[in-house]
Amino acid sequence: MITVLAGGVGAARMLAGLRQVVDPSSITAIVNVGDDVDLHGLHVSPDLDTCTYTLAGAINPETGWGLVGETWHAMEALERYGGLTWFRLGDRDLATHLYRTQRRAEGAPLSTVTAEITRAWGLSERLLPVTDDRVRTVVTLTDGTRLPFQDYFVRLRHDVPITGVEVEGAASARPAPGVLEALATATTVVVAPSNPIVSIGPLFEVPGVRDALVARRDRTVAVSPIIGGAALKGPADRMLRELGHDVSVVGVARLYAPLASVLVIDEVDAALADAVAAAGVRPVVAPTVMRTPDVAAALGRTVLEVWS
Ligand code: GDP
Ligand code: CA
Repeated sequence: MITVLAGGVGAARMLAGLRQVVDPSSITAIVNVGDDVDLHGLHVSPDLDTCTYTLAGAINPETGWGLVGETWHAMEALERYGGLTWFRLGDRDLATHLYRTQRRAEGAPLSTVTAEITRAWGLSERLLPVTDDRVRTVVTLTDGTRLPFQDYFVRLRHDVPITGVEVEGAASARPAPGVLEALATATTVVVAPSNPIVSIGPLFEVPGVRDALVARRDRTVAVSPIIGGAALKGPADRMLRELGHDVSVVGVARLYAPLASVLVIDEVDAALADAVAAAGVRPVVAPTVMRTPDVAAALGRTVLEVWS
């Protein structure tokens, strides 16, 4: 059993690599839902959907989110009314949100609906939202304004400095069924190369999750989302800097040292291996930019072989 802590694009690529090297039915992903957003009355779960669509081979390779070959008729029709279109939902993607919302309204927990959706896409992996309860990431801007995560990330294109991140609802949330067990029983726990602040961090805010992970430190390997002092895409590097962290694999090592005993760093950061070790985490140097399925598979093999 392998358990992966997951955000969106970086995690989805990691999962796609792992499924090539182990039986997919032995993989559980614990996925961030702090990015979830209610739009048009619909429950949208961007990280769950990015993981699902990627594993199904249906992701749009150009954006890393949404479905390949998507059409946008609903958004175009909505523009006529001046409706909310800054968060783009493709026509077929909309069906996922319609289904999720309907099932939730019928009383099905998000974890149940997620299992239904992944089964419908033919996946054998288990994707677990970290919680079935409502949690929402909120960022604070330098002028004190608090913004829902997608307003910051999509509407403002994360082009504004932040001073803090909170996960509303987390303190009273419970881990979804299976989450703590998946951490406790995994032979390897993988912290995927996702944004440490807004993809991985929110998972730890759900009571019990961080402790369960710390207890498995000896079997937990993280993959750095920071390569050569920068994120591949998105605001992870700026967020780390704005919140006072070192934007390097050493900064990532310090963040993850309490819960991971190994950090996979990219070859371009090989010179920082000693500094990673000094932060208390064993460095493993490997190619980590998952540009092709082969690189992702090799990285999957690397994380599973760190104990041997
Ligand atoms: P989001 O939820 O879609 O924004 O995605 P994540 O939080 O999962 O991932 C964003 C982070 O993943 C960024 O910091 C990227 O640098 C990192 N990332 C994306 N693809 C890769 C990859 O192939 N390798 C590594 N090492 N990091 C990646
Ligand atoms: Ca996300």
